[in-house]
Amino acid sequence: ELFLRPDLVACTFSGSVAISVAVSAPTRFLVLNALDLSVNRTSIRFQALEPTEVVFFKDDGVLVLGFAKQLPLGEGLLKMDFNGILNDQMRGFYRSKYQYKGKERNMAVTQFESVDARRCFPCWDEPAFKAKFKLTLEVPSELVALSNMPVGNATFAGPIKTVRYLESPPMSTYLVAIVVGLFEYVEGMTTKGTRVRVYTQIGKSNQGKFALDVGVKSLNLYKDYFDTPFPLPKLDMVAIPDFAAGAMENYGLVTYREVALLFDDKSSSASSRQSVAITVAHELAHQWFGNLVTMEWWTHLWLNEGFATWVSHLAVDSFFPQWNIWTQFLDSTTTALRLDSLEASHPIEVEIHHASEVDQIFDAISYDKGASVIRMLQSYLGAERFQKAMASYMKKYAYSNAKTEDLWAVLEK
Ligand SMILES: [Zn+2]
Repeated sequence: ELFLRPDLVACTFSGSVAISVAVSAPTRFLVLNALDLSVNRTSIRFQALEPTEVVFFKDDGVLVLGFAKQLPLGEGLLKMDFNGILNDQMRGFYRSKYQYKGKERNMAVTQFESVDARRCFPCWDEPAFKAKFKLTLEVPSELVALSNMPVGNATFAGPIKTVRYLESPPMSTYLVAIVVGLFEYVEGMTTKGTRVRVYTQIGKSNQGKFALDVGVKSLNLYKDYFDTPFPLPKLDMVAIPDFAAGAMENYGLVTYREVALLFDDKSSSASSRQSVAITVAHELAHQWFGNLVTMEWWTHLWLNEGFATWVSHLAVDSFFPQWNIWTQFLDSTTTALRLDSLEASHPIEVEIHHASEVDQIFDAISYDKGASVIRMLQSYLGAERFQKAMASYMKKYAYSNAKTEDLWAVLEK
């Protein structure tokens, strides 16, 4: 259970967590992740126990809680209160600026991949530690407050509202997302009745219609391709004015840089239409490949990104066959080969030993060379056999994690 109260004027936030922890072996310590948070030491409890030592290891983003005696075995609740800053670094829980009625305003946004959920709340911030999240936000009443799941209920107390979201399925911390600001939206529905919305700045929702159309088509296509329904009750896509990457596949709440999501019939170019389509199809593929079945550890990032890159072309080719998008797939393969020709190149799968190394492998080798290898595999095995293998991989590892070797085993079978 996670509670957060962002202050959009002071650019700070306060919060509390209650994490259900299973102690499976005798220990005196709890070791988890937290970074740039000020944790209220007197609030920390594991069951009724207070820690006698609270130590931060800043370089590792690790918080160590030492207790006087060994912890009771079995499930217990770890609770603590904390404060943080809505930073301007576009990672963790941060502020983005926008204009409304001639005035500059702040919105609160999260960007957690790869290892920045720990900047928003204390947690076990690794992809294999999946948990169900029950989030509550306290925000100004007039603002739109979005998260991974739909709102369960909201209560109003004058200028402040308390929004409680439905409990999520088991998910990794890097996919948790929150967006609080002023937005308008356009809405559509998949064939199975999943509500899809594209949120934009006030006055720009028309520019979300193209992405909405591609989004709805993508969810329909992937449901069939993976033979698995979309796992959440809704999908929102949001254009964020200040955004570090192109887009981020947060479960049920995908965030985008504005140019990666918005398309204006009157002024946008043909190439921007294509890149919006590819980006939306890529992020929505992750809702299954990445979010439902998640890489065991960042070493397997290539699998996540290579697959999403490849399958986004498959999807866009079926929506817009006149684009001959596979010919452009070769352009990105070339970009990857150029990087790969440098002496400092790396294999598509890279051993990651420390959280600080992860950022370095979000490159054309992981994405585009990875995608090219997947494409070779698919043409070697045949489209139908490959698709059936992907569907059984999805069923076998749903709500869990998998390694490259696990995919190989499914393909071999
Ligand atoms: Zn991706």
